Amino acid sequence: TKWVYSFGDGTAEGKADMRNLLGGKGANLAEMANLGLPVPPGFTITTEVCTYYYAHGETYPAELKGEVEIALAKIGALTGKTFGDPGNPLLVSVRSGARASMPGMMDTVLNLGLNDATVEAVAALADRRFAFDSYRRFITMYSGVVLGVDHHHFEELLEGFKLRGGLNLDTDLSADDWAELVVQYKAMVAEKLGKPFPQDPHEQLWGAIGAVFGSWMNQRAITYRRLHTIPESWGTAVNVQSMVFGNMGDTSATGVAFTRNPSTGEHALYGEFLVNAQGEDVVAGIRTPQDLTEAARIAAGSDKPSMERALPEAFKEFERISKVLEDHYRDMQDLEFTVEKGKLWMLQTRSGKRTAKAALRIAVELANEGRITQEEAVVRVDPAALDQLLHPAIDPKAERKVVASGLPASPGAAAGAIVFSADEAEAMKQQGRKVILVRIETSPEDIHGMHAAEGILTSRGGMTSHAAVVARGMGKPCVSGAGSLRIDYAAQTLTVSGVTFQKGDVLTIDGSTGQVLAGEVPMQQPELSGEFATLMGWADKVRRLKIRANAETPLDARMARSFGAEGIGLSRTEHMFFDAGRILAVREMILADDEAGRRAALAKLLPMQRADFVELFEIMKGLPCTIRLLDPPLHEFLPHTDAEMAEVAKSLGVDIERIERRRKDLHEVNPMLGFRGCRIAIAFPEIAEMQARAIFEAAVIAAKSTGEPVVPEVMVPLIATKAEFDIVNAVIQKTAKAVEAETGAKLTFQVGTMIELPRAALRAEEIAETAEFFSFGTNDLTQTCYGVSRDDAGTFLGPYVQKGIIEVDPFVSIDVDGVGELVKIGVERGRKSRPDIKLGICGEHGGDPASVAFCDEIGLDYVSCSPFRVPIARLAAAQAAL
Ligand code: ADP
Ligand code: MG
Ligand code: MG
Repeated sequence: TKWVYSFGDGTAEGKADMRNLLGGKGANLAEMANLGLPVPPGFTITTEVCTYYYAHGETYPAELKGEVEIALAKIGALTGKTFGDPGNPLLVSVRSGARASMPGMMDTVLNLGLNDATVEAVAALADRRFAFDSYRRFITMYSGVVLGVDHHHFEELLEGFKLRGGLNLDTDLSADDWAELVVQYKAMVAEKLGKPFPQDPHEQLWGAIGAVFGSWMNQRAITYRRLHTIPESWGTAVNVQSMVFGNMGDTSATGVAFTRNPSTGEHALYGEFLVNAQGEDVVAGIRTPQDLTEAARIAAGSDKPSMERALPEAFKEFERISKVLEDHYRDMQDLEFTVEKGKLWMLQTRSGKRTAKAALRIAVELANEGRITQEEAVVRVDPAALDQLLHPAIDPKAERKVVASGLPASPGAAAGAIVFSADEAEAMKQQGRKVILVRIETSPEDIHGMHAAEGILTSRGGMTSHAAVVARGMGKPCVSGAGSLRIDYAAQTLTVSGVTFQKGDVLTIDGSTGQVLAGEVPMQQPELSGEFATLMGWADKVRRLKIRANAETPLDARMARSFGAEGIGLSRTEHMFFDAGRILAVREMILADDEAGRRAALAKLLPMQRADFVELFEIMKGLPCTIRLLDPPLHEFLPHTDAEMAEVAKSLGVDIERIERRRKDLHEVNPMLGFRGCRIAIAFPEIAEMQARAIFEAAVIAAKSTGEPVVPEVMVPLIATKAEFDIVNAVIQKTAKAVEAETGAKLTFQVGTMIELPRAALRAEEIAETAEFFSFGTNDLTQTCYGVSRDDAGTFLGPYVQKGIIEVDPFVSIDVDGVGELVKIGVERGRKSRPDIKLGICGEHGGDPASVAFCDEIGLDYVSCSPFRVPIARLAAAQAAL
């Protein structure tokens, strides 16, 4: 086995498609070298060494030392320096790099190879101040990530030194000052560890390599892998690379960039850089970075020169390389670079993370530019991320009381009570409050709070700060670097221009403009044209599954159509029962002692239901509509409080005792498995009869008014047996005949059923003899398959996910193995007796991309989901088909 792969000077032993072996960073460094781009020479220790390391009691393969020595010598030959040489030392960085970028892994160590002797050589060859600045950075980084001596111990020494010397900024420190601090740093480390800071460069190197492999098994990395189902066996690679220096004065710099704007997708180089700086100074938010291009500088109104002006030669070269890389990878790239004395060096490239809005625009534009196909564009956009686009934005007409401004780090708007810690955000969210997480800056420890929050606000950090990157990934609004905010963690306050906000005060953030606004500002829904419509059109061309919506109100139905729904898969009639105008008639019906009493009340409901359906059919203009008969237990419609009961009693002219008695009669220990679904229609067929009549009469009216045939699909809920279905079906068929006779119209309709009990799935073959369609009600099917009540699952599903008993909440993504098996059985058996039976699902799962893929695979005709998720389902269905 070959354990080490070299790169540099226009060639490499690895390449981009070796990412499993070399990790993402290593594979792309090799690829850039192969493309002839300026990459500091280096080598990658493979992920197989990591696997070996853990399989063999944390030891290395015997050949590794030798291979590393050879690879170091190659770097030496290319740079003219020698690792550890006190005359002309080679300095390197040690960088971790898993297959997928993984927070939680070891941070990069820069300037490795410096010690008391080599620092003098660097001082003599380059510059004394630079040499000692680099050395103190190295001691700080190495101590932090390899030796476990925390950063703040160094900060304290530095602050103390500045205070005594009356110095303000790091740039005020002279070479001697840094040299003095290096002495203090080393003494402090020696005291903490009981042994001196390692002076031998080889000891330093192997210490750093060991720390990278060690970090593969640290708690943060393990948690991250579990959350993202990354197997432990993948391992991480280690990259060792000769240093280039962005901290060699005013013609040196370091920066990060995207080949297109990661927020908007705009086709323009986008990024930040810092002159005379090193490594992650840019993202650390210590100094405010400068813009790359003049255009960006002007747009931002900044008076600090852009890279285009400050380092024109290096900028031109960078612009050229960014195009080469984007062309080569056929995707937007996220780049890291350093300029050393005017010469540009590339340090990293990878596919850039982006907002959904940017993902859409970039995919569509790359396809229009002919660089990828329309189908590739469809595959490139994550359906779940579309959710962000469907998020509210601030109503342009709303009054904006701007209290501060920061960077528009992640689009969308959010309002909530401000909190100052991740734990607090999580706690308040659990109490059902919406929160905005406010931090000076965020770090990986804050992730759970960022998840819980509606949006994130920071006072420090740029567009590439941790908060900004993570928020974009999560699709949450974020305003970063709002520098005028004074955040006091101890006092739990946020002060800006003399106004103080306490924990719990409500603010709105606009991640699209960077504004922070007082109070809760009105929002509005986004525009769904442009690239969105284009990509959806491409998706529609390739998908097989039809997408319907779960909708009953005119508002929902219109929304569903505007999102591209091809019909209604579930209209829950009971939702109409709660309307102010009709709840009284519903209650009268429930309180009635006999059929005659019920019929009298139902007669009042009939015209109202009919009007509802007419409107629904008219909005859907000939598209299929599935209407479900009354499903929930009747007691849900009765008044609950004494005051309400008194009022209902008065309105209906009945005794309050009568209402109470009926409530007691209808009380159930377990309503989910109680008197509901078709059981109501069987006990009180006149209810089903009224609903069927309303549907059919409405169909006749709407067919006339729209000129389109209306073909209603009447759906019987919660059946377990064919006999149940047949009894209710008979009522529906008889009603249809009656309506035909009365109106003289010829009705076309279907009667089918929901499959939401395991028994119904198992007996699907006989049920399909009479039922003309099945709609799998995967919410109830999940409840009854698992024996878990969704409303009570909150208390124990969390720990179940944590303990790995279940991978994802089965109410969010369909449990393919269990519930999915029942659906498959229902499909197969249903088709046996009725080969052309229409099949769909109508649970929450209809809008979950993984579940949509499953539905496509088993050959359903359609999925139905909430209107807002229709675009997600359309895209997911297209991806499933490709
Ligand atoms: P991360 O995975 O966190 O981005 P990297 O390994 O990319 O960590 O290192 C972070 C930064 O350190 C780089 O963006 C670059 O600025 C700096 N860096 C890494 N290696 C070198 C090097 N050989 N020379 C100069 N700077 C380097
Ligand atoms: Mg890092
Ligand atoms: Mg990097």
